[in-house]
Amino acid sequence: MHVIELERVSKTYNNGLRALKPTTLSISAGSFTVILGPSGAGKSTLLRIINGLESTTSGEVTVLAQKLTPQNISRLRAKAAMVFQQFNLVGRLNVMTNILIGRLHYNPWWMSLLYLFKQQDKTIAHWALARVNLTTKAWERADCLSGGQQQRVGIARALAQQPKIILADEPVASLDPVTSEEILTLLHKICREDGIAVVASLHQVDLAMNFADRIIGLNSGKVVFDGSPKELGSDR
Ligand code: ADP
Ligand code: ADP
Repeated sequence: MHVIELERVSKTYNNGLRALKPTTLSISAGSFTVILGPSGAGKSTLLRIINGLESTTSGEVTVLAQKLTPQNISRLRAKAAMVFQQFNLVGRLNVMTNILIGRLHYNPWWMSLLYLFKQQDKTIAHWALARVNLTTKAWERADCLSGGQQQRVGIARALAQQPKIILADEPVASLDPVTSEEILTLLHKICREDGIAVVASLHQVDLAMNFADRIIGLNSGKVVFDGSPKELGSDR
C-alpha cells in the first residue's frame, strides 16, 4: 500500500525558480525513505509539498489515498507529521506544552491565565515522550535541553499527532555526528516498531546508506536516483 503518491508534481517559486521539476513517485507504508541531495536540490520543497505547507505549481498529491485539497489539508497534515532541522520548539515553554501546542484548550473561566491539557492528550504526550526516551524532561523548558534532546521533543510532537507518516526535513543537519546517528536510529526504530513511514531528507551519503530502505537522489529539482542503498553503492 502507498501512503504518499505524487503525480507529475512540480514547483516554481514566485521568483521564477524551478525548485521541483515534474516528479512522479510513491512511498510504501511503513518504509524508511531518504531523500538525498545537496543543499538547494529541492528536498525541503518536496517534503513541504507533501505536508501541504507549500503549494504546488502543477500535479497531484495523494496522502493516505486522499487527494490533498484545501478542505482536508489540516487533517492529512496531522497524518503526515513534520520534523524540522531547527526543531521548531518554543524555547521558553516546557516540553509537554511544546508537544501539545496544537491541542491547548483555552479556559475562559480562568480569565485567560490558564490553558488546559485534556487528560487524553496528556496520556498521548506521555506515551510519545516515553517513545523518544525523554520522560524525565516533561516539565523542563525546551531551551534547557541539548540539541539531540530538542530533536527528540520534535519527534515526540510529531508522534503525538498519531501519524502514519513522519516527514523529517534535514532532521540531523544541526547535530553532531554521534547525535545524528542516535536520532536516525530512533526514527528507524519508530518506523519498524510503530509501522510509521519515515521520509527523511539528508545530504550525507553515508547516513543515507546506513538507514534507508530506499534512497531517492534529488539534484536541481530532479530525481536522479531511486533505489536501495546497495544499488546506490554499485552505482557509484
Ligand atoms: P511562494 O511561491 O510559495 O509564494 P515566495 O517566492 O512568495 O514563495 O516566497 C515565500 C517566502 O520564501 C518569502 O518570505 C521569501 O522571502 C522566501 N524566499 C525567497 N527566496 C528564497 C530562497 N531562495 N530560499 C529560501 N527562501 C526564500
Ligand atoms: P533543499 O531542501 O534541498 O536545500 P529547497 O527545497 O530548500 O532545497 O530549495 C530548492 C530551491 O528552491 C533552492 O534553489 C532554493 O533557494 C529555492 N527556494 C526555496 N524556497 C524558496 C522560496 N520560498 N522562494 C524562492 N525560492 C525558494
